[in-house]
Amino acid sequence: MASMIHRLQRIVQEVNRAPGIDGALVLITKSLTRDLAADACTIFLASKDNPEVMILKACSGLNPDIIGRVERSMGQGLIGTIAARAEALNLTNAPEHKKFLLVPDSGEVDFPIMLGVPIIAHRHVLGVISVQRAENAFNEDEEAFLTTLAVQLATSIERAESQGRFSTPQQTHLVKGVAGAPGMAIGVAMVLNRGVKLESVPDKKTTDIDAELSSFQEAVSTVCSELIEQAEKMRVALPEEECALFLAYAQMLSGGSLIDDTVKNIAAGNWAPSSWRDTVEQHAHVFSQMEDPYLAERANDIRDLGLRVLRKLMLGQGAFLDFPDQTILVGDDVTATDLADVPTDCLSGIISAHGSSSSHVAILAHALGIPAVMGVPNLPVKQLDGVKLVVDGYNGSAFINPDKLVLDEYNQYLKEEAAIEQDLIGLKNEPTITTDKHPVSLMVNSGLMSGHTPSLRSGAEGVGLYRTEIPFQIRDRFPSEEEQFQIYRNVLETFKGMPVVLRTLDVGGDKPLSYFPIHEANPFLGWRGVRITLDHPEIFVTQVRAMIRANRGLNNLEILLPMISGKAELDDSLILINRVRDEIEEEYGEQIRLPKIGAMIEVPSAVYQIEHICELVDFVSIGTNDLTQYLLAVDRNNENVAELYSSMHPAVLKAIYQIVEGAAKNETPVSVCGELAGDPLGVMALLGMGIDNLSMSVGSLLRAKKVIISFSHAELIEMLQRALEMPDAFLIREMYACKLDERGLGGLIRAGK
Ligand code: PEP
Ligand code: MG
Repeated sequence: MASMIHRLQRIVQEVNRAPGIDGALVLITKSLTRDLAADACTIFLASKDNPEVMILKACSGLNPDIIGRVERSMGQGLIGTIAARAEALNLTNAPEHKKFLLVPDSGEVDFPIMLGVPIIAHRHVLGVISVQRAENAFNEDEEAFLTTLAVQLATSIERAESQGRFSTPQQTHLVKGVAGAPGMAIGVAMVLNRGVKLESVPDKKTTDIDAELSSFQEAVSTVCSELIEQAEKMRVALPEEECALFLAYAQMLSGGSLIDDTVKNIAAGNWAPSSWRDTVEQHAHVFSQMEDPYLAERANDIRDLGLRVLRKLMLGQGAFLDFPDQTILVGDDVTATDLADVPTDCLSGIISAHGSSSSHVAILAHALGIPAVMGVPNLPVKQLDGVKLVVDGYNGSAFINPDKLVLDEYNQYLKEEAAIEQDLIGLKNEPTITTDKHPVSLMVNSGLMSGHTPSLRSGAEGVGLYRTEIPFQIRDRFPSEEEQFQIYRNVLETFKGMPVVLRTLDVGGDKPLSYFPIHEANPFLGWRGVRITLDHPEIFVTQVRAMIRANRGLNNLEILLPMISGKAELDDSLILINRVRDEIEEEYGEQIRLPKIGAMIEVPSAVYQIEHICELVDFVSIGTNDLTQYLLAVDRNNENVAELYSSMHPAVLKAIYQIVEGAAKNETPVSVCGELAGDPLGVMALLGMGIDNLSMSVGSLLRAKKVIISFSHAELIEMLQRALEMPDAFLIREMYACKLDERGLGGLIRAGK
C-alpha cells in the first residue's frame, strides 16, 4: 500500500513539475507503462473546441504516428464509452467488446487486455487513460491504482492543460471564477511579483563592492520613500491603522540588523541581491521558528518586505511604477495591501486565483467600486503580465486576450453602464419609495473605510451595520477603550441624527485576530462572535463602554449582537450592557439612556426562536451571508462550493419570511444587513416580505433605490408568493431577473442594459 501511495505521489509530482501539458502527458504514459507493467498506455483528452470529442494526445508502447490522429466522440469505441458513462472498463479481451474499434496501424492488436478510466474534474470528463497488455488481466489493485491516479491527475491535468492553452497567447480565452465585486473593466494585466522570487536569486561574487553597496542603499531608500508615500495615499481610502503597516515596513528599512547584516554580506564580496536574500531568509527563519503564532506570522512580513527591495534591485528603479492606465491587478492570492501598489487612478480591476466574494480584498474592491473576479481555478498567472484582459465582476469571469468581438461587446456594455451610473446619481436626493408610496430606509454597511463621505453623499439614512472587527483585525493587539471610543465617536458624529448600528466584535470563523489565535477543526461552527466575547467579558465590556461613552450627547447609537443562537446569549449580553450603562452613569453623574439593542439573526436556531428573541431586543437584523452558509451547509469562502451558495435559495427565503412573521407578532422591527440586501433581485424579494430597512455596501445603494422606485409594493408581495412556491434558486432569480428586464433594468445585475 505504501508503495502505491509513493508511486502515485511520484507521478503526480513529475506531472506538476513538467513545463507544459505535452511533456506532462508523455511522462504519465511512460510512468504508467512502467509502474503497471503494461505494454501500452494511451491518454485521450477532450478537444478544446468540442468537449464531446476525445483526441489521442499521448501514447507509449504504440506507434507514435497515431498521436493527434485518433478521435472518439462520446459513446464511440471503448474510449468514447468510458467517457460517456464516466466509469472504468476492465476487459480481458477488448476486441470482443461490442464497442471495440480498432485503431489501424497502432500496434494495439497485440494487446487485447485493456483497463481504461475516465479523468473527471468538476463533473466534466477531461479525458480517458487506458493501459493495455498482451497477457495477464489487470487485477482489482491495479484498477484501484489507475482510478486513484486519474482522480489526482484531474487537477494537475486541468491546470497543465489550461496553462498549455496559453502557449499561443493571441487566442481569446474565457476563465471563470467567483463574482468578487460588481462592474466591468477592460485593461492590461499587471502580475504581482512578476516572477521575481527570493529563492530564485542566484549566488554571485562581486569585485565592485562599492557599486553593490550603493545600489543596495538606493533600492532600500526608494522602497522606504515609496512606503511612506503609499501610507499617505492610502490614508484617503483606508483607516489610519492599515496605513501604519506601511510605516512599520519603512521603519524596518531605516536601520537595524536587516540592513547591517546585508552590508556585511556585500562587504564579504557577494553581490547585493544574494546578500539581501540571505539576510531576509535568516531573519524570516528565526521568526517562523517562534512558538508564538503572532511572531511566527511576522516571517511573512519580512519576506514581503524582502521581495519589495529585491524587485528594485533586480529590475532597476522605476520598473514597478510603470503602471498601465487601466491596470488589472492579477495574482495567485491578491491581498488588500497589494492594492496599495497601484495608483488609485490606474486600478481598473482585480483577478485573483484564490479567494472569494467575502475575502477582505473583494470587500475593499466593492467599497472602491472596482470589479473583482476571485477564485479562478487554473489561472495562468505567470503568463498574464502585460496581456489584455476583460474583467466581468458581475458574473465572475474574465477574457484573456479578448478578440475584437469581445472587446466591441464590452465597450458597448461600458458605455451603457456609464449611462446607468449617470441616471443613478440623479437619484441620490430622491425619496426611496415604491410606486404605490411604500417608504423604504436604505442604510450603509461600514467598518472598512475611514471616510464616511461617500456614504453620506449616496443619500444613506444611517449606518445599518458597522463591522467593528475590522479596526481590531488591522492592529497587532486589542485596541484600547480610548482608541475604540475615537473610532465610534467619529462614525456616530458623522451620522449625527441618523441611526448608527455598531455590531459588537464578530471575530472567529474566517475573521482571525493575529494576536488572539484560535485553532479549531471547524472554525465556522466554533468559537465565533458573541460566543467569544461572552467568554471574555473584559473584551466585551471595554467595547460596550467605548460605544456608550461615544454616544453621550449624540444618542444615535444602536448595538447589534452577532451570532446569537439562543436566548441565554442574549440574557448574558444584556446583563453586561446594563452593567456598563450603570457604571458610566455613575462615573459621569448623568443619566445615560440605554441604546437600542438588536440581535443578528444569522444562525438557523435563532430563526426558530425568533419570538422569544424579539421579546428581549428592540430590533433584529438578518445576516443573510451567514444564514445562507449555515442553512445550506455551504462554506461562504470556499470556491469549490461557490455555485451552491445562494441567498435566493428557497430555504433561505422561507427562513427570512419566518423571521419576518415571528417578529411581527411582537412588532419588532426587522432589517437585513447581509449581501442580499444590496442585490437588486434580493431587494425585490425582501420588500415583498414586508422588510423596509436594508443595509448594504455604499456602491449598491443607488442601484437598490432604482429598483425600489420602479416597482409597486403590491406587485413585489405578489412576486414573493410565487417565489416561495418555486423549487430552486435558479428559477427564483430567473423570475425576478425577467421582471427587472421588463422594466428595462437588466443593466443593474449584469453587463449591458
Ligand atoms: C452576515 O452574516 O450576513 C453579516 C452581515 O455579517 P458578516 O458578513 O460580517 O459575517
Ligand atoms: Mg455574519
